[in-house]
Amino acid sequence: MTLDPTVRPKMIGDMTQERTPLRKSEEAVGHAVLALYYYAGAADIYAETGEQALIEALDKLWGNIVNQKMFITGACGQKHDGGSSNRDFVHEAFTINYEMHNAHSYNETCANLCNAMFNYRMLGVKGEAKYADVIETVMYNSALSGIDIGGTNFFYTNPLRRDFDHKMGETDYPTRVPYIPCFCCPPNLVRTIAKLSAWSYSLTKNGIAVNLYGGNTLETNLLDDSEIKLTQKTDYPWDGAVLIEVKESKKEAFDIMLRIPEWAKGSTVAINGKKENATAGTYFTINRKWKKGGDVISLDMPMKPELVVGHRKIEEVRNQAAVKRGPIVYCIETPDLPENTNVFDVYIPSNIELTPPKKESEFLGGLSTLKGTVMLTEDRGDKMYKTLEKQTWKTFDATFIPYYAWSNRGASEMTVFMPILWE
Ligand SMILES: [Zn+2]
Repeated sequence: MTLDPTVRPKMIGDMTQERTPLRKSEEAVGHAVLALYYYAGAADIYAETGEQALIEALDKLWGNIVNQKMFITGACGQKHDGGSSNRDFVHEAFTINYEMHNAHSYNETCANLCNAMFNYRMLGVKGEAKYADVIETVMYNSALSGIDIGGTNFFYTNPLRRDFDHKMGETDYPTRVPYIPCFCCPPNLVRTIAKLSAWSYSLTKNGIAVNLYGGNTLETNLLDDSEIKLTQKTDYPWDGAVLIEVKESKKEAFDIMLRIPEWAKGSTVAINGKKENATAGTYFTINRKWKKGGDVISLDMPMKPELVVGHRKIEEVRNQAAVKRGPIVYCIETPDLPENTNVFDVYIPSNIELTPPKKESEFLGGLSTLKGTVMLTEDRGDKMYKTLEKQTWKTFDATFIPYYAWSNRGASEMTVFMPILWE
């Protein structure tokens, strides 16, 4: 803490989970990292004990986080310092519902990772796709933003907008740094990436579930100890086509369950070429006698670029939109804007045509950018308030890069949300 010594920060009450017993909690409160570890631990206890009061509270807490306190990137920890709805001082913490400031969001890398860890445990006890959706959102966005393309520099905080006037301090850095005095986030991130493959599949009562997609080979044993070997081929998250081949399996019928992400409307699953529609936001279960060395599952998830808007009560993103494609949240960054333009100048037309993604094999470690024409305002000025006047605009063919890849080209300004120009 670097608060002025005359300030008594009072690390009590909601800040340290002292105000409301967990089993009676309905709102996520307190230091975001500690809260999410606490909830993850409680989910572990539920997995052992089956205590109903615990899971009922965890369901409410999960709903409050995902529907009222989580950023589009899966990040948690709305403010560096703020107040809870019970008026307790809170630090690096959950604050009140819908308080989602872009530039001043805290979003410690650890908190985002803990959100994924909490969801991994909820996935284990509930088996619902929505928990794996959050894991995926976190890992591709607010976790991966914590590390640079080279893998040697780190962010502690992960705001959704950065402008050069933002006052930095303590754990907030203008660019990623190789060493952070409070060194929790870097090892937490790299260990989570290292073990993410273990979250990709789950054993189920009657088979196996595919939670996360990516090229891999799986060799394991089902719960009845029978051997299973699968290969998965895909260019996910840049392409929504996934091929899974059953290389080895038992003779008897068993389930292969595929997570269809909530964003993947219009997905299809084909087994040896026979196509079926799959419902987004669920696991698509295939039960059959699998032919080893022959059966191929082909999953196709449409990845149309889209504009995403926030709930009407999120004051900070009223009439703003973010660009998203599949699980990847995009941003606009000053190295891709004309000289002397800042991110506050950028407006996004509601009918923007985002061109099909261009896979750039070298750029920022290999990723897909999106292109589209935005409008740049020439309205500048220092007055706090002024009379509304007709603005002059310039069109600009913009490049959007994945949010996680920002700040790899020196100090820059960046924004995820942009004001909408209704066309
Ligand atoms: Zn940390």
